[in-house]
Amino acid sequence: MHIAIIGTGYVGLVTGACFAEFGVSVTCVDRDEKKIKSLKRGIVPFYEPGLEELVQRNIKEGRLNFTTSIAEAVDSSLVIFIAVGTPPRGDGSTDLKYVEDVAREIAANLNGYKVIVTKSTVPVGTGERIRKIISKELKAKSYRSCRNSLGGQVSAINFDIVSNPEFLREGSAIEDFMRPNRVVIGANSQQAIAIMKDLYKPLYLIETPFVITNIETAELIKYASNSFLATKISFINEIANLCEKVGADVHMVAKGIGLDGRIGPKFLHPGPGFGGSCLPKDTKALLKVAVDNNIELNIVNAVVRANERQRELMIKKIKDAMGLLKDKTIAILGLSFKPNTDDIREAPSIYIIKGLLKERAKIKAYDPVSMKAAKKVLPEITYCKDPYEAVKGADALVIVTEWNQFRNLELDRIKRLLKGPYFFDLRNIYEPEVLKEKGFKYFCVGRV
Ligand code: NAD
Repeated sequence: MHIAIIGTGYVGLVTGACFAEFGVSVTCVDRDEKKIKSLKRGIVPFYEPGLEELVQRNIKEGRLNFTTSIAEAVDSSLVIFIAVGTPPRGDGSTDLKYVEDVAREIAANLNGYKVIVTKSTVPVGTGERIRKIISKELKAKSYRSCRNSLGGQVSAINFDIVSNPEFLREGSAIEDFMRPNRVVIGANSQQAIAIMKDLYKPLYLIETPFVITNIETAELIKYASNSFLATKISFINEIANLCEKVGADVHMVAKGIGLDGRIGPKFLHPGPGFGGSCLPKDTKALLKVAVDNNIELNIVNAVVRANERQRELMIKKIKDAMGLLKDKTIAILGLSFKPNTDDIREAPSIYIIKGLLKERAKIKAYDPVSMKAAKKVLPEITYCKDPYEAVKGADALVIVTEWNQFRNLELDRIKRLLKGPYFFDLRNIYEPEVLKEKGFKYFCVGRV
């Protein structure tokens, strides 16, 4: 089977490379010429562990191609995935411009039956919207060619729409794609479902559960999943804030509740709030869909507010401990929204640094892979070559992202290099007693 993936970002490129690894012939498309030029040489322009090797192997074995031309990719493909960005607008609604542009371009180049799949996270009703856009374009095309051929017959082109939301996590995207908890396929056509099952056959063979449903349900599953994960995070963050007041240990609370099989242990780790390109945007987009349909989603609403508050509380924690921050130097370790990615979209670090800059603090920062991306949004701070350069002469250290390399810092060296004794561990990766014994003024989230 030959397939096309339109959009070669974190989702599109992983999807393309993994399907190629399954033996499918894949053409990946992006309108970003620089990106495609780099990918053709086997260089992945963003950080995702293992992806570059996978891309290089599949290019070499002839199953993975790159182009900037949607026409070229559509021409030879039976299945076309749309994996472009769906950024939020100011009011929380989803900007579908890129998805709609791609739908029109696919329509302009359809040359026979195709299955058109949305992998991008899109609000309920988008599948139907894409169907209408493509039908309209096809009708206009047919009308134009009828006129050109002076009334000659133009055969109708069939297509099906499928929703196949993606649940991969940046940082472990390949493993998540190759061994997912489930594959969701939303479609109204048996033919399209059969083609999708065939495409995902290697996952069928390892007994991955498949959820086959209608398009609207599949679209909603994605938003409901992300909103539920966000709920767990905001829940434990609020419990952590209470723990600090009453002398309880949030790690033990999380363990105590997570051992209940009905609750589960995952996503119960407190911190500076959720970030990234998905949870903040998807919770807000779900709220917008609910408002448009006159439904109150009080829980999701509270989750979003609690998350915004959590970031503010982190700045307050630093201010309360250190007093006036004007001209104080603060070393920030970790900029990406989580470890093993260079993605800084909606990263807590960005909010926290901006808040500290507002207090006129000076910032020195270090991150293993995301400093290049951060420089574009935070050009005014100092970037360092390692954690020790960042803490040298600083009044405080703040760990914002729990990269593995920050878990074993040389604490005596840090203590010597830091001017002040303040150590804010916003990911709870150190033991409070150990840090206090070393003479740090140690603060974490939900433990005293
Ligand atoms: P991204 O910004 O990394 O990549 C999107 C790509 O689409 C870019 O390379 C861009 O140049 C390209 N593009 C935009 N318009 C185009 C066009 N007209 N023709 C060709 N290419 C075009 O985005 P991403 O993080 O991969 O996310 C893509 C979608 O997947 C979003 O809807 C997102 O919500 C969803 N998603 C993301 C993740 C994640 O962890 N990043 C996980 C699950 C779902």
